[in-house]
Amino acid sequence: MYILISNVGSTSLKFKLYRMPEEEVLCEAKIEKIGSQDGIYHYKNDINGRTHGEDSTPLDTYAVGINKFLSDLCDKELGVIASVAEVQAIGFKTVISKGFNGTVLLTDEVMAGMKEYLFIAPVHNAAYISAIEQFRGILPDTPMVGVFETSFHRTIPLRNRLYPLPYEWYEKYGLAKNGYHGASFTYVSQEARRDGDFRRIIGCHLGGSSSICAILDGKSFDSSFGFSLQTGLPHANRCGDADPYVVPFLEDQGMSFEEIREGLDKKGGLLGISGVSNDLREIEEAAGAGNERAQLAIDVFVNDIVRYIGSFFAEMGGMDKLVFTGGIGENSSLIRRMVCDSIKHLGVELDSEQNDKVRGNGFISTSSSPVKVQVIAANEELGIARETYGCLQG
Ligand code: AMP
Repeated sequence: MYILISNVGSTSLKFKLYRMPEEEVLCEAKIEKIGSQDGIYHYKNDINGRTHGEDSTPLDTYAVGINKFLSDLCDKELGVIASVAEVQAIGFKTVISKGFNGTVLLTDEVMAGMKEYLFIAPVHNAAYISAIEQFRGILPDTPMVGVFETSFHRTIPLRNRLYPLPYEWYEKYGLAKNGYHGASFTYVSQEARRDGDFRRIIGCHLGGSSSICAILDGKSFDSSFGFSLQTGLPHANRCGDADPYVVPFLEDQGMSFEEIREGLDKKGGLLGISGVSNDLREIEEAAGAGNERAQLAIDVFVNDIVRYIGSFFAEMGGMDKLVFTGGIGENSSLIRRMVCDSIKHLGVELDSEQNDKVRGNGFISTSSSPVKVQVIAANEELGIARETYGCLQG
């Protein structure tokens, strides 16, 4: 069975075509800077190695990128199938939908639920809805499956999820911690337990969006993400944890709700603190050149990671393995070193040489470290492919 997995970003799209249940990747594509005149398109046939090399091209809408990919997918030279009709399902990473969780067929009701929750996930749900609707237009008869980012966290006990707010708000609006990055942590949890039965794992997904997950016996036990995606660690542009009374205070100071929201969604996070960039590479470079606010952004980020690791360590009664994943977790030896150096007292001994070398996958703790530290390259697509296949099997 051929299953196409689509991983949608606010300005990017990634595709992988899987043969299931063999879990064989037949081809993949990456489309960046959608909405601009200098979009980047890259396609690779994983069977014969042929590529549609990095191509700078106008990518006005998701539909342009999707059509370009579908055309390569069935191309005589580059393609892996003869016709798009051979794709039996499309699996999407989806964030949140009112009234739905887990892995579900993307019906009109589920899409309506995603629209209702645009308020909680403005950046993500808007992009996902747009890409899914484009696909539905192009391939109306192909089943589309959504794997919700909140699914993995359904096992978090209520005492770890509930806010100290009027209980009726929880009953009426579901105001409690949702947790996100479920596709990433599902994969991390499976991979991290391949080399031993690690009971207490703390996973750090650090990237444009960042979160920490306490994984107890393979199940989510706590997450730094709360009800919305504007919680927990500082993100690229979005704020992390902040005092909720910041909002009424700023309103009282005369700021409009839209201005406040823009600060929380777009002008906060690493960009807000550093004033330099939302991209950690550029922040690291500026800090290296003596920019104090860039250094401050790094210090706040690391301190918040350490604080969450500490609290999850305490909640689980210890930590057997620490995992780094996501663009920053996989690549930034600086952030990994700063975090690990701050938690030596929790039994983390970093192998500095390994840490400098590892990009993507590998171990970065010493052989005698009581806590193993592993870097795992995020593979959300495989988790989504497994879930989509399971959903179609009923
Ligand atoms: P993601 O959202 O998982 O794709 O991660 C994007 C983030 O990873 C951006 O902030 C990048 O700056 C960061 N990143 C990617 N490569 C590196 C690197 N070599 N060093 C530091 N940060 C990196």
